[in-house]
Amino acid sequence: MSNVVVVGSFNVDHVWRCEVLPAPGATIAGRYSTGPGGKGFNQAVAARRAGADTTFVCALGDDAGGAMARGLAAQDGFTLTAEACSEPTGTGGIYVDARGRNTIVIGPGANAALSIGFVQGQQALLAAAKVVLVQLESPVDTIEAALGLAREAGVITVLNAAPADAPSSISLLKLADVITPNETEFAALLNRHVGERIDPNDVAALDGASLHALCRKLVGSGTVVVTLGAVGVFVSHDEDTLRGDAQPYYRIGAEQVQAIDTTGAGDAFNGALVASIAHSPDAPFARHVRFANQFAGRSTEKEGAAVAMPHFTPDDQPA
Ligand code: ATP
Repeated sequence: MSNVVVVGSFNVDHVWRCEVLPAPGATIAGRYSTGPGGKGFNQAVAARRAGADTTFVCALGDDAGGAMARGLAAQDGFTLTAEACSEPTGTGGIYVDARGRNTIVIGPGANAALSIGFVQGQQALLAAAKVVLVQLESPVDTIEAALGLAREAGVITVLNAAPADAPSSISLLKLADVITPNETEFAALLNRHVGERIDPNDVAALDGASLHALCRKLVGSGTVVVTLGAVGVFVSHDEDTLRGDAQPYYRIGAEQVQAIDTTGAGDAFNGALVASIAHSPDAPFARHVRFANQFAGRSTEKEGAAVAMPHFTPDDQPA
């Protein structure tokens, strides 16, 4: 049985680094690389490298992509439990220009076929975990089922509400003890669920009290962690459940790092956050956030997402 269970997506990413992004009708040359991706897989790798005994629940096709996922999970030392699908394994086609801007097309494939029935079959696994982590690159009903099973068993639930345009519902948000949107996802959730319009670029500059009030409008109870990229993190708790913290809201500044590629920084943050919670569930929440912030910062010092996850655990950190 694992301390952390991640339910989510796996993609084979195909990446072309080009001088400029291709215009419609254009054919251009770029430097090609391929590797693993998908928010679920990246977060499972991060949780494992941050020290958690981890199981990743996903859906894979019977193809080279599926074999890649299984091989890499074995290499990194976590358990992979996959629903076998007739659809191909998920793929991502990514163009990155010289300025680091990207254009991405996702072929969800098997990820879109991860079924409620398969997740229900993992009930014992989910109930025995210390933390269950999900994202929204899989069918929302399936994700809701996973959170529901974990919640019923009293397991801590974390929802990384990403990507921003994925469907979500208030009932889904209520099943999470902690939600972890980035600025864009936070703005999208506010717009969708409370009719509050806010420019994602303005989120980091808001004062703490205003940001806290927005978090409370979004979820009456529960914790919201808004990741703010190079600015760091903002945390807002429901005042009745401070999770060991002294204050209902606070900011933690980003690590000073030489960032060369921030792809997957959010995934690094989420995986490390749940690993830290599973390692010491009674520690103040701010300690988990500080650890995740350091881990995510370090992940930006290498190119790539899953492959760039560092190896260090809460035991390597000063208390
Ligand atoms: P991505 O979509 O690229 O995976 P994201 O948009 O979901 O990332 P961000 O908010 O950009 O997530 O970053 C997540 C966390 O990673 C931040 O809260 C911070 O802890 C860390 N981080 C990101 N960028 C930097 C940076 N330039 N320097 C230091 N830490 C960073």
